[in-house]
Amino acid sequence: MIYLDNNATTPIDPLVREAMLPFLGENFGNPSSPHAPGRAAREAVDKARGQVAALLGARADEIVFTSGGTESINTAIRGALAAQHGKRHIVTSSIEHSATKNLCEQLEREGCEVTWLRVDTCGNPDLEEYRSALRDDTAIVSVVWANNETGVLFPIEEMARLADGRRIVFHSDAVQAAGKIPIDLSRVPVHLLSLSAHKMHGPKGVGALFVRSGLGLPPLLRGGNQENGRRAGTENVSGIVGFGAAAELAKSALVGETSRIAKLRDDFENGVRRRFSQARFHGSPDRRLPNSSNFALPGLAATDLLAALDRLGICCSVGSACVSGSPHASHVLRAMGVGDDEAKSSLRFSFSRMNTPDEVKGALAALDESARRLGLGG
Ligand code: PLP
Repeated sequence: MIYLDNNATTPIDPLVREAMLPFLGENFGNPSSPHAPGRAAREAVDKARGQVAALLGARADEIVFTSGGTESINTAIRGALAAQHGKRHIVTSSIEHSATKNLCEQLEREGCEVTWLRVDTCGNPDLEEYRSALRDDTAIVSVVWANNETGVLFPIEEMARLADGRRIVFHSDAVQAAGKIPIDLSRVPVHLLSLSAHKMHGPKGVGALFVRSGLGLPPLLRGGNQENGRRAGTENVSGIVGFGAAAELAKSALVGETSRIAKLRDDFENGVRRRFSQARFHGSPDRRLPNSSNFALPGLAATDLLAALDRLGICCSVGSACVSGSPHASHVLRAMGVGDDEAKSSLRFSFSRMNTPDEVKGALAALDESARRLGLGG
């Protein structure tokens, strides 16, 4: 199997699994309990909080553990609305992950007004349009840092500064960006930031919301006083420990691995270009994640190609995992002006530090074979 679908999820790093195992066994304490097993669990959660904070240049007490990116995003947006009575306007973009998109559509039904920023054919937003979208009644700006389908990076630092200057809460969905590119929240005035462990070789079902110190954000889930009253529910201790270990490993890999992953991706794209002159690549070539590649092979249905590749042991994706299987063309590609047919011919390959040059060669050979079997010439 050659796994090139790392934006959907990543394999757990063996060191992460090792760190988690004691908390699925002998270290079963509840972090809220004052006795020894409880204290051990509390210590482990606090250590992980520090590890996740270090990945972001944040303070440990600014990290709230959640069940994943989706919960963090819901907490950020609903929390900002609840904290600011009278402000019912949201600014987001037309290329958000469904976690934000579907929530904002629901909030529109609940009476909020949403401005959906457009993007150009490379997936970049227009900063003038953004600037004029900011209003006195804007409760929150929520935009994705790195798009999950194309890897395109939004100019988050600039966008956050503009919102901060207008005293508007700024949230970024950094689920795909964190661990793949450096993020330093001591320099960037982002107020809220969502993360997910399973995109950085950590476990599924655990994530975090960075809440800038001083920002009062009501909890989404009410109940016990866990996470300093910011997220109720007994902590997922093993998941949180795994997330901490994954964040630490991701931070140390940022230096050496980023260029190696980018080279794997670039070699792959060059191979695709050589084999298929008709291939059309999507997303800003110079402003995107080092690991993501999204392209169309016009004339082929991406779902057929994905199935043919799967039979050869190659894992990739059609649009985002959350929408694959649906007959609709990707809303991200459509927002970038890609036609319906081309969008439905588009595949995403996403790499990680666990991939090798041999896997790139194997994937290219399989792509060649699959496309030819389906009747597409180079
Ligand atoms: N945001 C982005 C950009 C994502 O890629 C994903 C997952 O695919 C999410 C949010 C949701 O994260 P989770 O799966 O942890 O709920």
